[in-house]
Amino acid sequence: MPGFEKFSDLERKEVNDVLETGILMRYGFDGMRNNVFKARDLEAEIQEKFNVQHAQLVSSGTAAVSVAMALAGVGAGDEVIMPTFTFVASFEAVLMLGATPVLVDIDDTLTLCPDAVKKAITSKTKAIMPVHMCGSMANLNVLQEICESNNLTLIEDACQAIGGTYNGKYLGTIGDVGCFSFDFVKTVTCGEGGAIITNTKDLAIKADLYQDHGHDHIGNDRGAETHPYLGYNFRISELNAAVGLAQFKRLDEFLALQKKHYTVLREELKPLSNVQFRTVPEGGEESYAFLNFFLPTLDIARSVMSDFKAEGIDACFHYYDNNWHYVRKWEHLKEAKSLFPLSDAVTEGLSKISTQDFSKSDHFIGRNISCLIKIGWTEEEVKLRAQKMKAIIEKF
Ligand SMILES: *Cc1c(COP(=O)(O)O)cnc(C)c1O
Repeated sequence: MPGFEKFSDLERKEVNDVLETGILMRYGFDGMRNNVFKARDLEAEIQEKFNVQHAQLVSSGTAAVSVAMALAGVGAGDEVIMPTFTFVASFEAVLMLGATPVLVDIDDTLTLCPDAVKKAITSKTKAIMPVHMCGSMANLNVLQEICESNNLTLIEDACQAIGGTYNGKYLGTIGDVGCFSFDFVKTVTCGEGGAIITNTKDLAIKADLYQDHGHDHIGNDRGAETHPYLGYNFRISELNAAVGLAQFKRLDEFLALQKKHYTVLREELKPLSNVQFRTVPEGGEESYAFLNFFLPTLDIARSVMSDFKAEGIDACFHYYDNNWHYVRKWEHLKEAKSLFPLSDAVTEGLSKISTQDFSKSDHFIGRNISCLIKIGWTEEEVKLRAQKMKAIIEKF
């Protein structure tokens, strides 16, 4: 996955263009910038590649999810449904807007279980956020139907799945809003950066305003801009956008490498009777950022991980025992350890998480091993790694 493995002169050239003008801000300074607009160019590339009407760059993936929540009108008293297996950014974004994150079970797709979503809907639900963890998606057709019949916004967190598709459409373009991260370890990196994509003009206008203090960006005189809404600063800098522009132009090359390396690992593990690959919903194609499989039990998964470690097989994750991605270890969330007071509704919502039954999620995450696919591996390295992994797993 990490695009930084492939840094080259292309990134340097784009960054140099910006440094030569000295204008690190994406807006204004028209007389000085010598027509260099890296953020704008990257947005145009994203729109074209994903065949989507609007792309708005922001300062991170977390910012993208936060802005998406604001566009959906999520705020005090509202609830947002999300999976138990995600990155902490998902609930952070919801909490920042004063709303309550509602965590529900995943299934063998390792993403939102549609039945669990249905059961969690209340009169306060405002949005549903599937998170395409480790490169693959939930049954988005069903989630879309649920959103339509309940008048909810569908926000896709596609931060880990750039380039994956569903029914022939790119992930991120299926819901009302899609979010990407271009942080330091993602398939395309800007250092820190992210994007929101949408086909809805009204949402695109709001995203443009909200990520830059509510400025309307109309006319050339920045001081004269009006503020149709309150906003914030989630802007990307030209330097970050420049790195991302060079990287994004190589997305297809990176995706092809991911798929190639993923396929070598998968083919090697396929004959093993104790390995079951994650389910990809009908019509979906992974981004191949990770290879995910289930082992028969939690204990076997732990033993395999410890043998991987002993054999120097890095970049594999057992999320059950990991602090960043699974509800089991999010004590700070369950205990609402906030630096500032949260509303009673939020505090009450969070307190429920500790006693909620997530045995279904445990059943999948406990047995799952997720192997990051590096694009910088040589063919030899992938083959050797595949053989070593197989030799370890087949002992159990
Ligand atoms: C990386 C990531 C984010 C947050 O992105 P940042 O750019 O690091 O803020 C959000 N959601 C998921 C699923 C991620 O993997």
